[in-house]
Amino acid sequence: MLSASFLLYSTRERRETLAPHCVRCSAGEKDGGFQNPLTNARISGLIIKAQSGFFTVETSEGFVVCQLRGKLKQGRAKGDIAAIGDKVQVQVLTDGTGAIEEVEKRERAIVRLDPRPQGDYQQVLLANPDQAVFVFACAHPNPHLRMLDRFLVIAEKQNIPAVIVANKIELVNDAREIFGVYETIGYRVLYTSTKTGAGIDELKSILTGKISAFAGPSGAGKSSLLNAMQPGLGLAVNEISKVMDKGKHTTVTRQLFPLEGGGYLADTPGWKSLALWDTEPEELDAYFPELRELVQHCQFSDCSHTHEPDCAVRRALDEGKIHPERYDSYLRLRSGQD
Ligand code: GDP
Ligand code: ZN
Repeated sequence: MLSASFLLYSTRERRETLAPHCVRCSAGEKDGGFQNPLTNARISGLIIKAQSGFFTVETSEGFVVCQLRGKLKQGRAKGDIAAIGDKVQVQVLTDGTGAIEEVEKRERAIVRLDPRPQGDYQQVLLANPDQAVFVFACAHPNPHLRMLDRFLVIAEKQNIPAVIVANKIELVNDAREIFGVYETIGYRVLYTSTKTGAGIDELKSILTGKISAFAGPSGAGKSSLLNAMQPGLGLAVNEISKVMDKGKHTTVTRQLFPLEGGGYLADTPGWKSLALWDTEPEELDAYFPELRELVQHCQFSDCSHTHEPDCAVRRALDEGKIHPERYDSYLRLRSGQD
């Protein structure tokens, strides 16, 4: 039986995806049944879709559906060897499919830890993102800023520049009253409304030419924003995400969506469940930009910024230089409550 996700494919894509299956059952060659290479030349490309061991790679010669060479899989089962956003070297085979010969070193990645009986496995939701874009509504639903703080900390930890989109600004008097604090800290905040069109061009321009991870709570207006930017884009992204939500019985498809002006966008709905695994409490200081510089002025180098005398963080808090809610987020994350 075909999985539900196949129904979303265009005929051309379906052919591309199915072809390698046919190769595998008809040919009995050594390395996963790969056909002979067309030439010995390798071409470089970008993985734009990953599903059950098949990778669609965008190359200068067009799209090639590939599998990994067996040699890449040896002894490295601790995480995804290839993922969307990875730059790869591909050899095109006589039947038009390809073999991924090499995966270039990742600059960074959005990683989720998947506990498995044989040990934790690192799922790569997106390799090499240039930025993470977090969408929250000003109202309906009310912005859950503690969740935003958590997202920001995860982005800081994984070294991914973050941009905040405050959507539905026409529903409140002054969106800066809610989100201005993030500008003070140094984050870029875009103020948008799909009802009035405010900020849509700005959103488009920050996404152009980059690989962006798009995330935010449901109802914040992510699909509406994408549709406002590029007709049909929100719909396309949603279809893939819905399949992902159905859980373990469906094959997970991850996809990079091309933007009209250049660049790609990936829906990364997993942020809420990205645990801050292996984060030491003291490490958190570095992930709150407004605390980063301050903490060196605390009397104790292992200051927890809660009760110690001569604490620079609490002094800044008293002087109104740190937002109380950000401090609250810091304490929650530090104590592992969130
Ligand atoms: P998603 O779950 O984040 O993809 O959110 P949707 O794009 O589906 O939007 C959720 C709801 O918010 C829909 O009813 C949209 O029409 C509405 N919505 C989206 N953007 C705006 C906006 O800027 N202002 C208002 N008032 N409603 C919006
Ligand atoms: Zn302190």
